[in-house]
Amino acid sequence: MFENLSDRLSGVLDKLTKQGALSEADVATALREVRVALLEADVSLPVARDFVKAVQTKAEGQAVTKSVTPGQQVVKIVHDELVHVLAGDAADIGALKIDSPPASILMVGLQGSGKTTTTAKLAKRLSERDKKRVLMASLDTRRPAAMEQLAVLGTQIGVDTLPIVPGQDAVAIAKRAKQQATLGGYDVVMLDTAGRLHVDDELMGEVAAVRDATKPHETLLVVDGLTGQDAVNVAEQFDGQVGISGVVLTRMDGDGRGGAALSMRAVTGKPIKFVGLGEKMDALEEFHPERVAGRILG
Ligand code: GDP
Repeated sequence: MFENLSDRLSGVLDKLTKQGALSEADVATALREVRVALLEADVSLPVARDFVKAVQTKAEGQAVTKSVTPGQQVVKIVHDELVHVLAGDAADIGALKIDSPPASILMVGLQGSGKTTTTAKLAKRLSERDKKRVLMASLDTRRPAAMEQLAVLGTQIGVDTLPIVPGQDAVAIAKRAKQQATLGGYDVVMLDTAGRLHVDDELMGEVAAVRDATKPHETLLVVDGLTGQDAVNVAEQFDGQVGISGVVLTRMDGDGRGGAALSMRAVTGKPIKFVGLGEKMDALEEFHPERVAGRILG
């Protein structure tokens, strides 16, 4: 049913046109299909509702009912509106405010979202593509394996990691990382915070303390793009309690429909800057609103 929303919309409206004059009610009926498709693509209900309302207003404004090809016209309006919501201010996509060295990037998110992998992928991109000297530090004091994982990735991609000193808390490590970055002449210091399986007060408290101690230039939330509704809740909580400057959606190589992207943009208003497209260190791209719009539209 979801597979091809474009064809479905064109079909419904063009058939009605052949039967005589098209009414606003006919368009509204067709737009119900859009709402269903959005919900199937994991877009949250309020976001789907607002979206359909916006499309309806535009359809009325463009006098779709008088068009010879209303189906095609509505499909175009839906597509353009999807891109509009997903893109926001397109200048934010793929861009990071890292021009005053050492600039710090705080990486936050739940455990298993792909935070450590994304930290390393982004460090690789900054070092190879943007020729930045990058230092990475893991603040995950509860999971020594996570610290090890970042060190291993650092060696693999040729990016320095802060030496591990047992017994320090997250704030102390973050301060040491910034100091080391200043002394060592690094352009960027990436702080990979600890994750949890669920958002909890202790986690938020720790991340907020690190934020206050380091005044990051960017705070990027890493979210699993396959988690749909949950991703939106996580984004709302992190943005409300810590404040984020952007989002990285991981696992967009999977067969998720990208609905989380739409909800997240609509609910937080924060840009989706990058997407993760696999486990390899090169599998990170700038977010392409057109592609996700195409995926949702089918
Ligand atoms: P963390 O607990 O948030 O730090 O998560 P990790 O970085 O350890 O990632 C958890 C798992 O997800 C690892 O097996 C990663 O290789 C995998 N992973 C991370 N990003 C992506 C992605 O974009 N696509 C796919 N397919 N796997 C990913």
